[in-house]
Amino acid sequence: MNKIIPAIMLGTLSVLPAAAVVDKNFNYHVDRFADIEVLRYEVPEFDRLSLQQKKMLYYLGQAAQMGRDIIWDQNGRYNLQIRQLLENIYSNYQGDRNSKDFKAFEQYLKQVWFGNGIYHHYSTDKFTPGFSEAFFTAQVNGLPAGKLPLETGETREQMLAKLTKVIFDPTYLAKRVNQDGTVDVVATSACNLYGDGVTQAEVEEFYNKKKDPADPRPISYGLNAKVVKDADGKLREETYHLTGLYGPAIAEIIYWLDKAKEVAENDAQKAYITKLIDYYITGDLKLFDEYSILWAEDTKSDVDFVNGFIESYGDPLGMTGSWESYVNFRNAASSKRTETISDNAQWFEDNSPVDKRFKKPHVKGVSAKVINAAMLAGDAFPSTAIGINLPNSNWIRAEHGSKSVTIENITEAYEMASHGNGFNEEFVIDKPTAKIMEDYLYITDMLHTDLHECLGHASGQLLPGVDQDALKENGSALEEARADLFALYYLADPKLQELGILDNPNAYQAEYYKYMLNGLITQLNRIELGKDVEEAHMRNRQLIAKWVLEKGRKQGKGGKDVVELVKKGGKTYVKINDYPKMRQLFGQLLGEIQRIKSEGDYKGGNDLIQKYAVKIDPKLHKEVIKRFSTLDIPPYRGFINPVYTAVTDADGEITDVTISWPETYVEQMLRLSKDYSPLTRQWK
Ligand code: ZN
Repeated sequence: MNKIIPAIMLGTLSVLPAAAVVDKNFNYHVDRFADIEVLRYEVPEFDRLSLQQKKMLYYLGQAAQMGRDIIWDQNGRYNLQIRQLLENIYSNYQGDRNSKDFKAFEQYLKQVWFGNGIYHHYSTDKFTPGFSEAFFTAQVNGLPAGKLPLETGETREQMLAKLTKVIFDPTYLAKRVNQDGTVDVVATSACNLYGDGVTQAEVEEFYNKKKDPADPRPISYGLNAKVVKDADGKLREETYHLTGLYGPAIAEIIYWLDKAKEVAENDAQKAYITKLIDYYITGDLKLFDEYSILWAEDTKSDVDFVNGFIESYGDPLGMTGSWESYVNFRNAASSKRTETISDNAQWFEDNSPVDKRFKKPHVKGVSAKVINAAMLAGDAFPSTAIGINLPNSNWIRAEHGSKSVTIENITEAYEMASHGNGFNEEFVIDKPTAKIMEDYLYITDMLHTDLHECLGHASGQLLPGVDQDALKENGSALEEARADLFALYYLADPKLQELGILDNPNAYQAEYYKYMLNGLITQLNRIELGKDVEEAHMRNRQLIAKWVLEKGRKQGKGGKDVVELVKKGGKTYVKINDYPKMRQLFGQLLGEIQRIKSEGDYKGGNDLIQKYAVKIDPKLHKEVIKRFSTLDIPPYRGFINPVYTAVTDADGEITDVTISWPETYVEQMLRLSKDYSPLTRQWK
């Protein structure tokens, strides 16, 4: 439940803060297609790591990439077969590579790579192919028999008919994750986390029977399993583990984790890698909890990683974890900032505008650090987060704390790649606002991530007996809102100057303006005309912005609106009249959402979501899309990874690991499919 994804745009900077380690000549731009831009990211300070640490990163990077097929299969039952087929067509194509059909085919393949399957990574809608069915049929029929990725017993004709329907019929398996609570979200979601014929009611009953409400330390039910229905109509879990579902990929992950274990930085790290391997071998979620505790408590190691079934955004019921991996190491200089914040965690908790009953009397070890990403994989690739807070299990967070990270080199890459894109000129209301954003948005954005991850998610407590899943389909959006509000509220607190983190009492205004602008206006660019807001982070942002817009009417100084939408030259702008009052409103909403979460008030939460987070003014929506179209700012961005090469001596011992960025997007994707695809070996 706990990651921050970037808002519609971050970059508005003309100058970077002095602290940033940036190679001015680094080329961030890799590829641009559909609504996507692909970037590279730098890995500052890689060369300063010891050989042992570099080896560790290398092995963990291998383990990360070996899981790629898992997320593809979780995202859709036919994804791996479709990927293999499309790549074979792409590589064997003899015709004109500049023809309209081939260009459209290439764009579709690039989109599919980016989505780790045939659904958009963010909207979860199925991609619409721009090439014709006739073109597709001709390509499939033109492939030599050896290049057909057939399922067991399948003929060319059967595969063609099946996949033509999957790719071209917009009503068939239309959406990966359906969050429309008025229908059966399991039956209507195309993700591959539930078997044929399984209904939402059946899954809920299945897990309710397993759950013991009195258990203070429940496992994360369903986290590593697909739920299928047997012939007798009974439900059963197919667990992801070495000899179960995804076994061949998990075997490779274990192989590389085992090597990483040998070069671990300390015994604590060795212990949690061992535990993770045991969990992968057995699929036992109790072991996963034990691993999570050991991992959360290791705050010493520089090199760190996530590897497993972690976030549950891909499951309409929010239980099954999507496979991901994130390999990283500490950014020592910037970590001082987050260490200061986390050292004061109890102060922030005690002073938050929340009812005392819902506060943690003792905030447990919120460890926070700033990291540089070294390898992104699975659900964290190519689209990726700029902040993470794990583990997700509530009782582990309460008893053992959590690890919170801000990912600096990724944030930096976003900023640098956006430099001079014209966004400020188009959307920011006036020069003074643009100026404060120029001076302080980079640092306040990063601070927002720190506060959101390190304090926001870790704050507050449930009342005894409240089910952590009580907010159901609104749980993710409300949790994100809670963490964002915590961050927004404290960004304006004088405590941050007192702690030496900000040097200007008005710095927070940069983030406030951006937040309101994004929530009310610019994020609409990510949504197709006629559609509602669906994704959890976007709902959260609109909820906060619209609530403050409404509650602030005539509440600002002099009876003005705290914030308003004004028209200038036919264009809509956000105008903030009273920043301090806005802070109070953020605090008020934080108190209410914390109450909803602590009490498990489903109705209260759902009312907020339905009233503020979902609907869009169609006129404004059209205007926003038109204004963006003149800027060519991609609504979504993601990354390819650098390439790590192990240099070995005559005995095969690794003597160095080098880093380079030699590849295009297409080259990297084809290489991953060739070298890191344990679940598609039958087709090689
Ligand atoms: Zn979050």
